[in-house]
Amino acid sequence: MQWDHEIIIVGGGMVGAALAARLGQAGISVGLVERGSAPKPASGDYDLRISSLNARSLAFVKASGAILPGERCCPFRHIDVANQDGTGHSVFSAEESGMNDFGIFIENRALQYALWQRLEELPSVTCYTQCAPLSTMAATTARMLELDNGKTLSARLIVGADGARSTLRELAGIGVTSHDYHQRAMIINVETELPQQDVSWQCFTPKGPIAMLPLPGQRASLVWYDSNEATKAREQLSDNALQHAIETTFPQRLGKLTRIVARASFPIKRQHAKRYIGKRLALIGDAPT
Ligand SMILES: Cc1cc2nc3c(=O)[nH]c(=O)nc-3n(C[C@H](O)[C@H](O)[C@H](O)COP(=O)(O)OP(=O)(O)OC[C@H]3O[C@@H](n4cnc5c(N)ncnc54)[C@H](O)[C@@H]3O)c2cc1C
Repeated sequence: MQWDHEIIIVGGGMVGAALAARLGQAGISVGLVERGSAPKPASGDYDLRISSLNARSLAFVKASGAILPGERCCPFRHIDVANQDGTGHSVFSAEESGMNDFGIFIENRALQYALWQRLEELPSVTCYTQCAPLSTMAATTARMLELDNGKTLSARLIVGADGARSTLRELAGIGVTSHDYHQRAMIINVETELPQQDVSWQCFTPKGPIAMLPLPGQRASLVWYDSNEATKAREQLSDNALQHAIETTFPQRLGKLTRIVARASFPIKRQHAKRYIGKRLALIGDAPT
C-alpha cells in the first residue's frame, strides 16, 4: 500500500514542529496538520508563553537545522530552589555539572516560528494549515485521517501533538484521568531595574511556588501560584498595585520593577492520558498529559 506520508503529525506547536523538522531532516515523508496558520516571527514585547529548553531538547531542535533567534533566547546557568521559610536552599550550577549552561528560555512562538522556517526548507515535509481532523481509522497497514477541508490522508503512523485538549486523542477514544488543584498560576512578564542574568529561581511558599524565568536584558517572566480566589482578586489589580504586590512578595533579588508588560492566569490541573499509543497512533507533547 502507498501512503500519502510515512508519518502524519497533527499539531504544529513547538513539539509537533520539532518532530516534523527532525524527521524531515532525516528525509522521512511527513505531513503536518495544523489548525491555525503558519506562525509569524516574534517581535516587540515578549509573549507570556515562555519555555525552558534543557540542553538535550535544545540539541534535538538544533539537529533539525532550525536556527533560533539568539537575541530572544536567554541561557541559564544556575537553578536556585528555596523554601520561603528558610528551611531549605539548593543552587545547581551548570559549570559544576561540566556544562556551559543548562539550556535556554525562549518564547514558545519564537521556537515554533524557527521550526516552521526550517520545515519550509525540507522537501519531504508538507504542511497542511487551517485544517483539523474529523475522524481517524486504523487499517492493517495504514491509518486514515479525515480532515475538515475535505481531504483524507493516510500514513503508517499518526502522531497527535495537538496539545492538552487533543482532538486526536479524543477521536482515538483515549480517555484521561484528571485532578483539579483548585489553584491558578499567574504569569506576569515584567521589566526590571536589574538585569536578570543567568539564574532561574523558584521559591516554595505554603500557597504554592513563585518563580522567575530570566529573559534577555532587564526582563523576566514571573510565575505566581495561588488559590483560585487569590489569583482572581490579583487579576483585578492595576499595574501599579500588582507591581507593589510582586515587590513585597517575591524575593528581594528580583529588584524593583519598571513595567508590567503582560499578565494572564491559568488553572492548574493534572491530566494524564490512559494510553500514549494506539494502533498506528502515538501521542506526544501535551497531548498525552
Ligand atoms: C503559561 C504557560 C507557561 C508554561 N511554561 C513552561 C515552561 O517554562 N517550561 C515548559 O517546559 N513548559 C511550559 N509550559 C507548558 C508548555 O507550553 C507546553 O508543554 C507546550 O506548549 C506543549 O507543546 P505542544 O506542542 O505539545 O502543544 P501546544 O503548544 O499546545 O501546541 C499544539 C498545537 O496543535 C494545534 N492544534 C490544536 N488542536 C488541533 C487540531 N484539532 N488540529 C490541528 N492542530 C491542532 C495548535 O494550534 C497548536 O499549534 C507552559 C504552559 C503555559 C500555558
